[in-house]
Amino acid sequence: MNLAKFSRRGYVTTPTPIEALPSFSKALGGKVNIFIKRDDLLPGCAGGNKTRKLDFCIADALDNGADTIITCGAVQSNHCRLTLSWAVKEGLDCHLVLEERVKGSYSPEASGNNFLFHLMGVKSITVVPGGSNMMDEMQKVASGLKAEGKTPYIIPGGASNTIGATGYVACAQETLQQLFDMGLKIDHMVVPSGSAGTHAGIVVGMQGNNAGIPVSGINVSRTKADQEALVYKLVEATAERVGVATPIAKETVECFDGYVGPGYSLPTDSMVEAVKLLASTEAILLDPVYSGKAMAGMIALVRKGHFAEGSNVLFLHTGGSPALYAYQNIF
Ligand SMILES: *Cc1c(COP(=O)(O)O)cnc(C)c1O
Repeated sequence: MNLAKFSRRGYVTTPTPIEALPSFSKALGGKVNIFIKRDDLLPGCAGGNKTRKLDFCIADALDNGADTIITCGAVQSNHCRLTLSWAVKEGLDCHLVLEERVKGSYSPEASGNNFLFHLMGVKSITVVPGGSNMMDEMQKVASGLKAEGKTPYIIPGGASNTIGATGYVACAQETLQQLFDMGLKIDHMVVPSGSAGTHAGIVVGMQGNNAGIPVSGINVSRTKADQEALVYKLVEATAERVGVATPIAKETVECFDGYVGPGYSLPTDSMVEAVKLLASTEAILLDPVYSGKAMAGMIALVRKGHFAEGSNVLFLHTGGSPALYAYQNIF
């Protein structure tokens, strides 16, 4: 595996910290030692996991002569915020297509990421109903821009293609190097699993380095079967891209769907508990849609005795805290 052959922009300048969470671990009974990989502290406006993917995706856009980026997401999309953020830094125009997955949830005056879209000077926002074909919708925007003489480049939702997932292959390598430097042995890793690029990239990176660290994904929208199929497909394609032997064993991809609640972005009691507990024990902010639900899943697995007593578990904090400010009423 030689990631140096792929174009990237260098957005990830230093490894994100791996921190012990002693007070949080104690609050969960003290039988498992929980650590956190702080990808919420990545560069880019307000941080988060999409920076690692965009490092490669925006390099590809520039290699293709783009002057304009189009991407899509939900109404409080962190991915849209970070794509816009890096486009601004690169001097590229950025247009967003937002899917109103929960009917009536889009408000042009909303706080959180929506506020930041406007603050950073988004060129346009197109809102489409839940269930729309987002690639078709982005292609419509692209056609209009091409007619104006622009050279647009479409980044898929969550930047979860093989190019973006390569960023999380690199994250797995970075993590293993850090663990080596720290002299820390991790028994299990837990990651949020959404559009799948993060989960898939970590699996490929662990596999490509023979790390032997099992990875569990906590779903934020789909069922276990659907999410495992989605992640596995991207694992295989990404492995092929970066030169990791395929096929990778199906069991390597494991997802839990018990913490989604009523649906994507809809609050759950366990998410509220997770956000409050991490904030009040370690002063680290999660988000209501992804990292909060993923942490709720990890808390439940700890309480069920899923991890052996005395084991070290690493949680990947993918960011998203700006969305908290759009959900203040539920806390
Ligand atoms: C996008 C996102 C995720 C999910 O990552 P995927 O690669 O889409 O699975 C998790 N946490 C946050 C904060 C995100 O914005």
